[in-house]
Amino acid sequence: MTYSAATKRYDAMPYRRCGASGLKLPAISLGLWHNFGDIDALATQRALLRAAFDRGVTHFDLANNYGPPPGSAEVNFGRIFAEDFKAYRDELIISSKAGWQMWDGPYGSMTGTRKHLIASCDQSLKRMGLDYVDIFYSHRPDPHTPLEETMGALATLVQQGKALYVGISNYGPDLTQKAADILKSLGVPLLISQPNYSLLDRWIEPALLETNARNGVGTIVFSPLAQGFLSDKYLSGLPEDSRAARLDWVRAGLTDAKLALIRQLNELAKARGQSLARLALAWTLKDERVTSTLIGARTVEQLTDSLGALDNLAFSDDELVRLDQLTRD
Ligand code: NDP
Repeated sequence: MTYSAATKRYDAMPYRRCGASGLKLPAISLGLWHNFGDIDALATQRALLRAAFDRGVTHFDLANNYGPPPGSAEVNFGRIFAEDFKAYRDELIISSKAGWQMWDGPYGSMTGTRKHLIASCDQSLKRMGLDYVDIFYSHRPDPHTPLEETMGALATLVQQGKALYVGISNYGPDLTQKAADILKSLGVPLLISQPNYSLLDRWIEPALLETNARNGVGTIVFSPLAQGFLSDKYLSGLPEDSRAARLDWVRAGLTDAKLALIRQLNELAKARGQSLARLALAWTLKDERVTSTLIGARTVEQLTDSLGALDNLAFSDDELVRLDQLTRD
């Protein structure tokens, strides 16, 4: 059936200014890393994207390698975009990234080079059927390529009109400072930084958050549920359809110590009258320097549940102290 977006889609979602730019992002954005590959049902993908946009989620985050297989999330998104979202292009912020090996030979693996970044952006645009992306990221630092070359390529993508803004992901504070300086000298401000951040991994406190803020760079945090660990789903075993059941490397992270901590966090969530997933998402947004929290969802029910975090973003001092006691290293 032809999609017509909900008329009340902008009524509830808060939008936060991205660093010193004029651009606002939804407090909760949707990522397509998992659940949008060729192994996933296209009907569910479509339902997720529609449900998200209907609730004011205007930002969809992709990367060249999302799938599996790599590239398929962009192809699937492109197909749904063409059928459902073309009319809403100017209401959407669509991002992609390059930084992981995508093709054979030296130019597929030297992922911070000008050669790789520009070719990869062209490939992503083709896969998604877009003329431009709103944000294009260097997905991770490339220690084998001068940072000047990587940032220069991002600036070129803006000058060519293939990206409106640029970002960096998985960069620490020192490299972020250097990247911001280089981009500034090229006349293309660094819009945004995308690190992981959750109650189970607070590495961005305080240095990266401060570096971003000092440079007028927004922060969008990924894996705020720590891949789903920050929910009650693992407290009584391993659900068959969960990410930890599907992927060995995720399951390896589910140690007894982590489960014990998740149990304690779950008690705190209950006392607050909020599910653990909602508490975990709300917590990532407590610092105004965080522009957006970037979630994943396998089902529309999960998406709806996660968006419910917006119903209670406030934390008492006592709650914050207790969360610090439990989760600060
Ligand atoms: P999350 O930590 O939010 O994990 C999402 C997973 O948690 C879902 O797929 C689902 O897994 C489970 N889940 C989601 N909502 C709920 C809920 N309400 N209750 C219980 N379980 C839930 O984020 P992701 O790790 O998926 O990352 C989000 C996005 O961040 C990615 O899509 C991508 O855009 C970006 N990202 C960027 C990276 C980078 O290097 N720049 C790296 C990783 C992610 P299940 O199947 O177990 O139900």
